Amino acid sequence: MTESVLLHIDGRERPASDGGTFTVVNPTTGEPLYDVADGTADDIDRAVEAARAAFEDGRWRSMPARERAKVLNRASGMLAERIDEYARLETRQIGRTLREMRAQLKRLPEWLEYFGAVAQTAQGTSPDFGADHLNVVRRVPLGVVGLITPWNHPLLITMKKVGVSLAAGNSLVIKPSELGPVVPGLLVKLLEEAGVPAGVVNFVPGLGRTTGKALTEHPGLAKLDVTGGTETGRVIAASAGRSLIPVTAELGGKAPVLVFDDVDIDQAVAGALFAAFIATGQTCVQGARILVARQIYEPFVARLVERTRKLRLGDPLDLHTQVGPLVSEAQRSKTAGAVDRAREQGATVLAGGRIPSGAHLQKGWFYEPTIVADVAHDHDLWHDEVFGPVSLVAPFDSEQDAIRQANDSPFGLAGSVWTNDVGRSIRVGQSLDIGIVWVNDHHRIDPASPWGGFKASGIGSENGLEAFEAYTRPQSIIINTSEEPFDWFGSVEDVRYS
Ligand code: NAD
Repeated sequence: MTESVLLHIDGRERPASDGGTFTVVNPTTGEPLYDVADGTADDIDRAVEAARAAFEDGRWRSMPARERAKVLNRASGMLAERIDEYARLETRQIGRTLREMRAQLKRLPEWLEYFGAVAQTAQGTSPDFGADHLNVVRRVPLGVVGLITPWNHPLLITMKKVGVSLAAGNSLVIKPSELGPVVPGLLVKLLEEAGVPAGVVNFVPGLGRTTGKALTEHPGLAKLDVTGGTETGRVIAASAGRSLIPVTAELGGKAPVLVFDDVDIDQAVAGALFAAFIATGQTCVQGARILVARQIYEPFVARLVERTRKLRLGDPLDLHTQVGPLVSEAQRSKTAGAVDRAREQGATVLAGGRIPSGAHLQKGWFYEPTIVADVAHDHDLWHDEVFGPVSLVAPFDSEQDAIRQANDSPFGLAGSVWTNDVGRSIRVGQSLDIGIVWVNDHHRIDPASPWGGFKASGIGSENGLEAFEAYTRPQSIIINTSEEPFDWFGSVEDVRYS
C-alpha cells in the first residue's frame, strides 16, 4: 500500500492546492511506495508568504543565538534516535545500500551541532571609521531562502543547507527532489517538534520544471541554494541573477583519482573502488577517471577489474549487498547509453558494461559496475558526467602528465591523490583545479570543512564558516560620537568633511 507525503506549510501538512500527486517508486522492486503531493505555484506562494511572515515577526531570527542553538541541539539528539528508521526509508526510496545509508546518516546530527555552535560564536566587527564615528558591523540573516535538493543523498544534502540557514536565522522553503522527498519531509516535522517555530521551515515537494521553477522565479526570496546537475544550476543561477539575489550551486563532477607508482596496489585499488562505486556511482564526487602511473598500470588495472567483477549486487536492504540499483529507469538508460557510446567511440569495456542477468535483479534498475579503458580525451566519457557505476582507467607518464590529464575536464569539484610521498601529494594537490582534494582517501566530508566546486561544478560552498557567512550579510551601523554640533548648510567653517 502506498503512503502519502504532503506539503508542510506554516506548521501544517496539506495536499497540493489542486490535489495533484506523483508517485515515488522503489527502484529495487519497481513497486509504488509513496503518493507525493505535487506542489503548485500557488503552494510555493503560500510557503514563501508563511516564511516571510515568520521572518518579519522575528519568531526565529530574533531568538538569541544561544536559544536557536539549543533548539538545533535538541533536533540533533532526536535525529540521532531516528537514524535507523530514516536509513531504511532512504534505502527503500533511492536504492542505496542500507550499510551506506546508516554510515552517512549517523553523521548528520553533527551538522546541527556544528552550526548551532557557529551561530553562538559568530561575532560582528568594528572597523575604524575615524575619530568621530563608531562603526558596528553586524551579520544579519538574509530572509526567505529557497533550498532545492537532489535525490542522491536526500537527507545529507537537505541537512547541509538546513543546518546553516536555520542557524543564521533565516526562514526556508525546501523543494526536495521528486525522487527522494520522504525523509527530508520527516526532517521538517522533526525540526518543529524540537522547537523551530511553525512557518520558519516550509516544504513543497514537486517536479523541477514546475514546482522548482515557481520557487526559483519567486520574487520573495533572498537567496537560492541548489544542489543538482550543471544544467539545472545554470537555469537557477540565471533566475537568481534576474532577481538580483545570491546563489549557492553545488553541481556536477567527473572526479579524477590519481594513483602514483609508490602506493600499495591493493590499498589503492580498494580506494579506487570506494571512490567509484559507493552509492552505485551516483555521487557528484564519484571517482570517474582513475589515472594510474604507467609503471603500475597493468597490475593495478588487473586487480581493479578482478575486484569490480566480484562486487555483490542485490537488495540494498540486505547488509551483505555492496551495490544497489540505480535510482530510476532514466538513470539506468543514461548509464547504459554512456557505455554504449564509449564502445562506439573505440573504448574497451574491461568489466561490467551490461544489465546483470541474475533473476533476483530483474525487477530493479541494476547495472553492472563498469571499468572502461582506451578512452581518448575527446571521447564523451572523458568529459561527461554519467552519474552511474562507470569509471574509466588511463595511464599517465609523469606528475605533470597526471595533473594535465586530471585538469582536462569542464568540472572541478573533487578528486583524490594516492601516494606515500608527502611532497608529491602537496605539489599535485595544489595543482589540481578542483575544490576538494583528498590524499589517500575519497568522499570524506565534515560540517566544518568547505565543500564546493570550481568551473562547471558550481558557485560558492557548503559547510564551514564560509557557508554561514553566505547565509548572512553585513549591516553597517555608523554612530556619530562627536560632541560638535553639525550643520552642513549652516556655514562653510562648520563643515567637518571636505
Ligand atoms: P537535477 O538537476 O535533475 O535536480 C536537482 C533538483 O533541481 C531537483 O529537486 C529538481 O526537481 C530541481 N530542478 C530541476 N530542474 C529545475 C528547474 N528548471 N528549476 C528549478 N528546479 C529544478 O539533479 P539530480 O538528478 O537530482 O541530482 C544529480 C546531480 O546533482 C548530478 O549532476 C550530481 O553531480 C549533482 N550533485 C552535486 C553535488 C555537489 O555537492 N556538488 C552533490 C550531489 C549531487
